[in-house]
Amino acid sequence: MRLSKMHMKTLREVPAEAEIPSHILLLRAGMIRKLVSGVYGFMPMGYRSLRKIEQIVREEMDAKGGQEILMSAIQPAELWQESGRWSVFGPEMFRLQDRNARDFCLGPTHEEIFTDIVRNEVDSYRQLPLNLYQIQTKYRDEKRPRFGLMRSREFIMKDAYSFDRDWEGLDKSYQDMYDAYTKIFERCGLTFRAVEADTGAMGGNNSHEFCALSEVGESEIAYCSQCDMAATTERAACVDEKAPAEAELPLETVYTPGTKTIEDVANFLKLDKKKTIKALLFAVSDQDYDYVAAFVRGDRELNMTKLINALGLAEHQIEFADETAMHEQTGCVGGFTGPVGLHDCKMVVDSELVEAKNMCAGACKEDHHMINVNYGRDYKGDLVLDLKLIKEGDPCPVCGAPVKMARGIEVGQVFKLGTKYSQAMGAYYKDENMQDQVLVMGCYGVGVSRTLAAVVEQHHDDKGIIWPISVAPYHVIITLVNGNDEGQKDLAEEIYGELQAAGVEVLLDDRKERPGVKFNDADLLGIPIRITVGKKAGDRVVEFKLRSESQSVDMNATTAVEEAVVMVNTHRHG
Ligand code: ATP
Ligand code: MG
Repeated sequence: MRLSKMHMKTLREVPAEAEIPSHILLLRAGMIRKLVSGVYGFMPMGYRSLRKIEQIVREEMDAKGGQEILMSAIQPAELWQESGRWSVFGPEMFRLQDRNARDFCLGPTHEEIFTDIVRNEVDSYRQLPLNLYQIQTKYRDEKRPRFGLMRSREFIMKDAYSFDRDWEGLDKSYQDMYDAYTKIFERCGLTFRAVEADTGAMGGNNSHEFCALSEVGESEIAYCSQCDMAATTERAACVDEKAPAEAELPLETVYTPGTKTIEDVANFLKLDKKKTIKALLFAVSDQDYDYVAAFVRGDRELNMTKLINALGLAEHQIEFADETAMHEQTGCVGGFTGPVGLHDCKMVVDSELVEAKNMCAGACKEDHHMINVNYGRDYKGDLVLDLKLIKEGDPCPVCGAPVKMARGIEVGQVFKLGTKYSQAMGAYYKDENMQDQVLVMGCYGVGVSRTLAAVVEQHHDDKGIIWPISVAPYHVIITLVNGNDEGQKDLAEEIYGELQAAGVEVLLDDRKERPGVKFNDADLLGIPIRITVGKKAGDRVVEFKLRSESQSVDMNATTAVEEAVVMVNTHRHG
């Protein structure tokens, strides 16, 4: 491709709304364009890279026996009502009606659609196992679309669904997808980690997230320094710290003026924060109770995901309570709420508090706390479980060694769904004895457009993107320094022709621009190999430079072509 003919507009300025490198660089390089918040289009260069990622995904899915199909983005409400998710999915779902007031949504995911296909078209165990997938546009009206392709409202996902006879079959299908994902992200040049994950709105009980390691990532990972435990912090189990044995002392109410935080009351009463109980208050919707009080030790943070899962709620059904409004029904007092005296709300207590003796907690009375609060004697939980958020240095739940923390971009996730959807929607097959059996399912997603952003996030410098060859829009850029010089022009054209003939994807920068502009654009675009044809063209000498390295080398033009061909082919077959 000749750059003079290519539809491409690079930007010198950093767009105001872009905060992170991938967003800034993809916009500046003219690879993506924003339409409205969270909605982007792909321009020629960006679309080429996107399709390369799609192709890698496709090859690895096919290698595991996946079969590609393409389903519609528009989905009828009825299917979602059957699975029970029409009401739980909440405001993230883009909903619409047709001219006859029939409800539809723009698919945020496709479990219902694939289950429907399979229940209608699979009859016998002979047709199993089955893995169907698609690469398709998804819609989620995200609360905070941001970071460009990273969290958008319209995005490209590869979603696969596996159907097996039984759980052993699912284990195999799941492992196949896990292995395929490992290959996909390796081939995209990502440094990543597969970690245990929460199953969220998908349901099911076993899941891994594939996280591209990055400071800008929204997934927080806890991993062990000694064993191979790795999990999102949402998911990571926490070990209860053993409390020292103590005799239970009599409950007392004490005056603690103005001590609204754990910090304040611990200082005021000269207590270790570990001797205090933190209360967190929530209002819930669509339940037979209105409020929830969660209790953790004062030095701990509450893990919202564990709380939501314990209550069986969807994320959008719970929010921090207005304590003044909550006071009337429950007796809570802002800044002074504790488990004793609180009533008419769901009490969820962290398991660590059960053995903790003589604790300090809010007295549900302005400016007062209670001391010597003991579980069992003074209060009880409706639910008692691990509600803690893991933090750096906490003991690993598997081996006890201190855990470390990292951040990552969730580029893929795999789930064992089991029979959640097949049961709800009646997806059965007949076994050898002609008996109906319920299908056992898995689902597997890759954020294709998010992966593109993750690659840029891990591969860039202050001048621009540094594409790995596998997903680069073009492999080589030939920078023609002076287009008015016949010798330079001829040599550039010769190299261009030879590389094309060898199957290398090559750009010829034949624009009437100053060399500085051309070099800057080549760096910004991140094309992995640059061949510069300049003053030494008369001697057939060119400059050969890798985008990932700072030094260029002078090379005979023929050698440069050979070198580029070898690099590209090694990558392709390597
Ligand atoms: P997140 O927790 O980031 O909102 P999710 O867990 O809801 O994502 P899944 O339902 O697991 O997402 O979707 C599969 C994949 O699709 C994710 O692993 C991610 O890579 C991608 N993805 C999800 N939401 C978005 C989005 N808003 N923009 C871009 N990619 C997304
Ligand atoms: Mg996910």
